[in-house]
Amino acid sequence: PHQFIELLPFANHLLPLPSLQAVGSDGVRISMESALTARDRVGVQDFVLLENHTSEAAFIENLRKRFKENLIYTYIGSVLVSVNPYKDLEIYTKNHMERYRGVNFYEVSPHVYAVSDNSYRSMRTERKDQCILISGESGAGKTEASKKILQYYAVTCPASDQVETVKDRLLQSNPVLEAFGNAKTLRNDNSSRFGKYMDIQFDFKGAPVGGHILNYLLEKSRVVHQNHGERNFHIFYQLIEGGEEDLLRRLGLERNPQQYQYLVKVGDTRASLYGFAMWCFWVSQGNCPKVSSINDRSDWKVVRKALSVIGFSEDEVEELLNIIASVLHLGNIQYGGEDSGNAYITTDTQIKYLARLKSPLNLEQASSARDALSKAVYGRTFTWLVNKINVSLTYKNASVIGLLDIYGFEVFQHNSFEQFCINYCNEKLQQLFIELTLKSEQDEYEAEGITWEPVQYFNNKIICDLVEEKFKGIISILDEECLRPGDASDITFLEKLENTVGGHAHLTTHKLADGKTRKVMGREEFRLLHYAGEVNYNVNGFLDKNNDLLFRNLKEVMCMSDNKILTQCFDRAELKDSKRPETAATQFKTSLAKLMEILMSKEPSYVRCIKPNDAKQAGRFDDVLIRHQVKYLGLMENLRVRRAGFAYRRHYETFLQRYKSLCPETWPSWQGKLADGVSTLVKHLGYKPEEYKLGRSKIFIRFPKTLFATEDALET
Ligand code: ATP
Ligand code: MG
Repeated sequence: PHQFIELLPFANHLLPLPSLQAVGSDGVRISMESALTARDRVGVQDFVLLENHTSEAAFIENLRKRFKENLIYTYIGSVLVSVNPYKDLEIYTKNHMERYRGVNFYEVSPHVYAVSDNSYRSMRTERKDQCILISGESGAGKTEASKKILQYYAVTCPASDQVETVKDRLLQSNPVLEAFGNAKTLRNDNSSRFGKYMDIQFDFKGAPVGGHILNYLLEKSRVVHQNHGERNFHIFYQLIEGGEEDLLRRLGLERNPQQYQYLVKVGDTRASLYGFAMWCFWVSQGNCPKVSSINDRSDWKVVRKALSVIGFSEDEVEELLNIIASVLHLGNIQYGGEDSGNAYITTDTQIKYLARLKSPLNLEQASSARDALSKAVYGRTFTWLVNKINVSLTYKNASVIGLLDIYGFEVFQHNSFEQFCINYCNEKLQQLFIELTLKSEQDEYEAEGITWEPVQYFNNKIICDLVEEKFKGIISILDEECLRPGDASDITFLEKLENTVGGHAHLTTHKLADGKTRKVMGREEFRLLHYAGEVNYNVNGFLDKNNDLLFRNLKEVMCMSDNKILTQCFDRAELKDSKRPETAATQFKTSLAKLMEILMSKEPSYVRCIKPNDAKQAGRFDDVLIRHQVKYLGLMENLRVRRAGFAYRRHYETFLQRYKSLCPETWPSWQGKLADGVSTLVKHLGYKPEEYKLGRSKIFIRFPKTLFATEDALET
């Protein structure tokens, strides 16, 4: 009768359980006996309960069992592991939300709502700001998880009339940011191409009253080209497919994505004969403007409505769309070559400001100047949009729950500057995880007066330093080459790396590598040994991407625009400032440092997302792919750390209450000190000294099997 049965764990240090129970997916409690037989079928809901906790195979087997039963959530202690089901499950209804509301973490089956609720209650009762860190590779379900969390708060938190507007705005910020910041990629039809940290602010009554969003490193290069099978940002197609006739007329757009170079142009796939054939195919086919899972026309309506809810005036929307349209027009500007070698514009274009581009450039330079302008315009407009949303959500003196939905560790066949930044970001997050997880464990042991042998784990600080250290870190070396006049190039950057940090244990280059490594490295690559594995980065384009320069006269023209949004994006003060703008990597480093500070000041919860297959299909569990992710996400290490301490901890009172019947001296009640009662009880039960420790207010039990045995004794 119960399709999915969840075994409730036997104890948890966060929130002690009054009694052991089991619950079906329908929320109905069931007998222990039927629950125990179900354990073999559906696995354990907390990896800490695995008998063989060091075995990766056992870990994956448990995930598989649960996945087959549509149980996509499993804990490692208080960390939530989530496997993308690639189908809609009936587990996000209002009923489900109610089931998790105000209920202890472990009284119900694992769910992202349980994590949400736990953070909310900690924020309320302990008055400490919280954050929920969501990680995982592209397509693993990070954005979906963050939306579920936001919805949970919107539905379950107390409300008032004025709060309703804020709730709506918080919710509606998602479709807007997704339209401008997400795109179809090979890995995910709705891939976030930027990192996002969102604070949800709550007032003293616990009602959501505001928010604030920080955005990281938008993939601007997508504006001017995409790999085959991928698309530009959703908004372009939404506007073209869904925009009303007269709107399109005003913007000078045609209802046909194929008309626009930026929507049909493909990336550099011409490297091989096969690539060339593919290129011809895609050029003639158009670069995938239609995707079955995406309905641009209805999405357009959603986005238009969302913009109004957030508080955009009609004029502002028109100006915003004008910018989007101009980017498409810009992309259609073609250049011809003069005899002198200078380029001239051949297309009859409406964009008058481009006529001012007078510097004599050759064809390639002219095209890349055009593309740089498109990227700058789009990138800055995106940041403007985020700020605009922030203004609409402003609130002061609030308690906060932060949600981090940021790109996971990436290893592709070819890795460039973007992967370098993304993986650096993941190193920083791993640092944070180490500090916060180990620290909080240690704090509890200290508070309870328990001696603890620290666990051996790899501290990746050495890699963070290699990337970010002043003067001799990779970013510093890159910046130095970017600033150096003369013959600086991607290759001289690589040489400088060799000379400066060539001896580092976590970095090698083709020249410095041993024979075996050299075979799998290109001459223009350097390899970093990340905490999650090795990645080869090709230095091609590093300098340009890091410089991210835009011609000064193009900036001037942007400042002169009548478009109010553009004049806010391109500030005149920037022109007067003779200082070189910060490089992209340095800006990223600074914003990451700020993010770390924000997160360090909060109490973290973790959601680790896993993608079950590369085909975006329901029901497929690809072992190899999953094993990789378990490794990259550091889940085994996570479990080891969790288990190396004490798997369980319980307040004396709860423990005694539950098990007192197992010992004649504690039954029916213990009159002395609680600690003595527990001590008497566990001695009677035959606990060995290495199996447990007694703290100030809690008993700490090292292995789950100890407690399992005690539970079994209770059953018989
Ligand atoms: P990226 O890094 O590319 O942004 P992501 O981790 O944010 O990837 P999502 O966009 O959240 O990935 O998820 C990809 C797709 O997987 C979703 O569009 C949805 O179809 C499906 N999906 C993810 N989580 C769930 C879920 N809990 N239930 C049903 N489908 C889901
Ligand atoms: Mg996403």
